[in-house]
Amino acid sequence: MDNRKHAIVIGAGIAGLASSIRLSCMGWRVSVFEKNSYPGGKLSSFDQDGYRFDAGPSLFTQPQNIEELFAFAGEPIDHYFKYQRVPVTCTYFFSNGKKLTAWAERKKFADEMHSVLGEPRENIYNYLDNASELYENVGELFLKHSLHRPGDFSVKEIAKALQTVKFPHLFKTLGHYNGSVFATPEAAQLFNRYATYNGSNPYSAPAMLSLIPHLEMNEGTFYPEGGMISITNALYQLALKKGVAFFFDSPVDSIKTEKGKVEGVYAGGAFYGADMVVSNQDVYFTYKHLLKQEAKAAKLLKQERSSSALIFYWGIGRNFEQLGLHNIFFSADYQEEFRHIFQTGDVWHDPTIYINITSKMEAGLAPEGKENWFVMVNVPANRGQNWEALKPQVRKAVINKLSTALQADIAALIETEAVLDPIAIEAKTRSYMGSLYGTSSNSRFAAFLRHPNFSKDIKGLFFVGGSVHPGGGIPLCLRSAAIMANIAGPGFSIKTV
Ligand SMILES: Cc1cc2nc3c(=O)[nH]c(=O)nc-3n(C[C@H](O)[C@H](O)[C@H](O)COP(=O)(O)OP(=O)(O)OC[C@H]3O[C@@H](n4cnc5c(N)ncnc54)[C@H](O)[C@@H]3O)c2cc1C
Repeated sequence: MDNRKHAIVIGAGIAGLASSIRLSCMGWRVSVFEKNSYPGGKLSSFDQDGYRFDAGPSLFTQPQNIEELFAFAGEPIDHYFKYQRVPVTCTYFFSNGKKLTAWAERKKFADEMHSVLGEPRENIYNYLDNASELYENVGELFLKHSLHRPGDFSVKEIAKALQTVKFPHLFKTLGHYNGSVFATPEAAQLFNRYATYNGSNPYSAPAMLSLIPHLEMNEGTFYPEGGMISITNALYQLALKKGVAFFFDSPVDSIKTEKGKVEGVYAGGAFYGADMVVSNQDVYFTYKHLLKQEAKAAKLLKQERSSSALIFYWGIGRNFEQLGLHNIFFSADYQEEFRHIFQTGDVWHDPTIYINITSKMEAGLAPEGKENWFVMVNVPANRGQNWEALKPQVRKAVINKLSTALQADIAALIETEAVLDPIAIEAKTRSYMGSLYGTSSNSRFAAFLRHPNFSKDIKGLFFVGGSVHPGGGIPLCLRSAAIMANIAGPGFSIKTV
């Protein structure tokens, strides 16, 4: 007879997996219900015609979140997961023909910014120092704690944060701020790009987001051996080791509540009782479909959704020496591009293109002498646009731009192809409107408006993943699981503000 309390996790996305591990280690009996036949949600992969593609995330930062999870579970991480720091964070191609290597090493990066763009080195050092200070004193506060429970922060932490945040961080947009601190438009464009790391618009989002480059340029970017899918595989294996039970092809249809408390879930017509339910499903759909609380769901829509993406997975029939693991081909007018994404709701004719090529790091991910290209363009979240018409338009623009920049007939080199659009992203992972990161950070209040990791009304109901606090992206999703577990740990003693 198993006398442990039972926790049900809805969804085996990265946050659901991390939640299941934490709760199991804390003494809960844990069952994960996943609608797909595989774990990982957006963090999945597929093979096609001899090429392997990571389907979603490609940039890996803050491996310490995974290290900490394994330490929490008391398991040696190197039995499950290996990664390395990469020497170049990104290779940038500007529309004026300038090409820049963003070295991970700070001095080399500042030298490159100076020699290629003419940007004074001290502007880079100052910016990265400010980013570091903001991250340490403010970012960490948001990422480690629930924002919705008084007493989670110490007076000292709050004082430090208040000292660090300056007027422009809140009252200037990132675009305005970067335009004022950098001497060259290319440097401003490069640093504006970081708003896209949580699906936001640099010309609306507050300059507070200038802390994001800290993660990539001070802490570094990393490559997991075997590709990004190794993160999912490692967490899944760890969860199994800790005794978590998985039910795949098992969508949860509703959450049962009684007198303000969760009772369990319905899946496939059967009822499964639970003392605690953790939803890793998009919080909007959790309210709308699982709790049938239409009004609450509608209230969540007051916050703007993050951007989505069009992804072309291309098996490319030759090597390109000038490309690295991460590559960006910038548009000529970034502001106009974002106006299309967030205002007109379509895709500008000259989109910025991101290419990730994991076969640069490991043989075997593409046939010899060939490359596995993950080609991504930021696009609006799905508002009912005609994606069948947009996809070929964007594909043509991407091929033309890359063919010119790389002086090669890219269309002729595509040996195999798959495409992911916002509708497919929603269908695969139930992320409302296909948004990559839940809600955007386009308002200065965004961090405070994101849904907490617990329900204020229903005892035993918790939320994790990219659509809730602290936000989207692998590091933040992992943090959401840690915050949830901290709250759940002492036995639901939730005081709300
Ligand atoms: C194309 C793309 C590129 C990205 N690039 C990066 C990047 O480079 N770096 C980065 O850090 N982040 C990136 N992200 C964001 C990152 O992938 C996400 O923030 C993160 O993976 C979300 O994890 P999650 O735990 O919130 O859940 P998700 O991955 O959204 O998974 C949710 C899971 O819940 C399941 N589910 C939903 N409803 C139910 C139900 N009712 N019953 C059962 N199961 C259900 C779904 O099937 C899914 O498996 C990218 C995302 C995409 C799509």
